Amino acid sequence: MSETDRLLENNEAYAKEFDKSGLPSPPAKGVAVVACMDARMDVHSMLGLKEGDAHVIRNAGGVVSEDALRSLVISQRLLGTEEVILVHHTDCGMLTFKDEALKDAIEADTGERPDFPFHAFSDLEGSVRTSIERIKENPFIPRKDSVRGFVYEVETGRLREVV
Ligand SMILES: [Zn+2]
Repeated sequence: MSETDRLLENNEAYAKEFDKSGLPSPPAKGVAVVACMDARMDVHSMLGLKEGDAHVIRNAGGVVSEDALRSLVISQRLLGTEEVILVHHTDCGMLTFKDEALKDAIEADTGERPDFPFHAFSDLEGSVRTSIERIKENPFIPRKDSVRGFVYEVETGRLREVV
């Protein structure tokens, strides 16, 4: 039995108790969160969010990649969100490698070099600022008045704003 099979058993139990039907698709709080996929971060709990409250867009690093921008454009233009919260975090795996070294290793392994960026970074706050800038510079995202970036401390559970 795989872990996935065990998780599907959990879902059976979840569905038996399910009482969240009928929620509207547009997020109730009008917020989109872009966060790292790190397993130690429970974005809903750390911000006091519930189902239906916010879009949570996650990837390695919580970087504003092309795909994160795609999701933010849809979030704002089609589903009415107005504020963006970016969440990077301490002890992030993205601090531990370099794009070129990873590409070298993959190329050595497979004979093919990835043609996309991994967005590894060496400066945590700098990466938050870069992500904020990517949103502010994007012509397709209409609402940029409230784009704020944070570092989540995996040691304390606290969000520290990057200004
Ligand atoms: Zn991370």
